[in-house]
Amino acid sequence: MIYHHRGDEEDGVSVLSVLSVVNIVGRFAPSPTGPLHFGSLVAVVGSWLFARAAGGRWLVRIEDLDTARLVRGSEEEILEALRRYGLTWDGEIVRQSERTALYDDALARLLAQGLAYDCACSRAEVERAASAPVGAEPRYPGTCRNGLAAGRTPRAIRFRAPDELIAFDDIVAGRVEENVAKQTGDFVVKRADGAYAYQLAVVVDDAEQGVTQVVRGGDLLSSTARQIALQRALALPQPEYAHLPVVLGQDGRKLGKRDWALPLPSLDQAHIRDTLAAALGFLGLEVESGSPRDMLEKALSLTRGRRYATIGQQNSTGEE
Ligand SMILES: [Zn+2]
Repeated sequence: MIYHHRGDEEDGVSVLSVLSVVNIVGRFAPSPTGPLHFGSLVAVVGSWLFARAAGGRWLVRIEDLDTARLVRGSEEEILEALRRYGLTWDGEIVRQSERTALYDDALARLLAQGLAYDCACSRAEVERAASAPVGAEPRYPGTCRNGLAAGRTPRAIRFRAPDELIAFDDIVAGRVEENVAKQTGDFVVKRADGAYAYQLAVVVDDAEQGVTQVVRGGDLLSSTARQIALQRALALPQPEYAHLPVVLGQDGRKLGKRDWALPLPSLDQAHIRDTLAAALGFLGLEVESGSPRDMLEKALSLTRGRRYATIGQQNSTGEE
């Protein structure tokens, strides 16, 4: 698909001189586990702006595999918030719960290559064996890597993590390097309860949906190397990544006058204007208050005039 940058027409520059071949596809992939909070609003606005400023498509995918955490009505609540904020999406909404066949296929390919194996370990066993510091994600010590011990029952299925440095250039975070085997070890792709793990599903979905650009909260930066390792094992294309600064202190540290961790309290117009202005401000885009559509249009024009790398860096340590 060929697009030209819309901003160039406005600037009077000949579109012929700047025709570029781009086919950007971005996405927002919320879990329906509760209403949007300010942190997720920043991520969704950032993702929308990155895709739309490049003339790209923007998809919404509901990540509803973890059934124990699902909250009834939450999907509709999130979609209604997107509508009210003017964050329009393209195409049909897909739900991971309806895409099991795709994950089955990917897992079968990993198993056929010897890149996945049965694991009999309980969570407690992994934690004991890894002797991880409190609160840290324990590194899987590889107990079942070479087959299950006699009498053990398979529970989960793990991916055999490559012992190599995975490096990528994040649009916002810069150069990131990680050796997955050393950091997390072989990780779960199908859980003991039979559900597919987030890491596998997201990689399969992004590829199947043609997603070229993943813009999301910085809390997922630490998942990215694992996802790239899976992309390589499955011979899937690697999207570009932009991890926006994390708005919320995970320890609950105070970031400003508001409590950013609270759900967006209401969808009335005044509140939408305030929170949208705050989200855009967090992304370094100062936009006058107005209707959500006008504010997003203005933000788009500002985004087009910048290098992506400058978006989202102004407030990377949060506001005081
Ligand atoms: Zn194991």
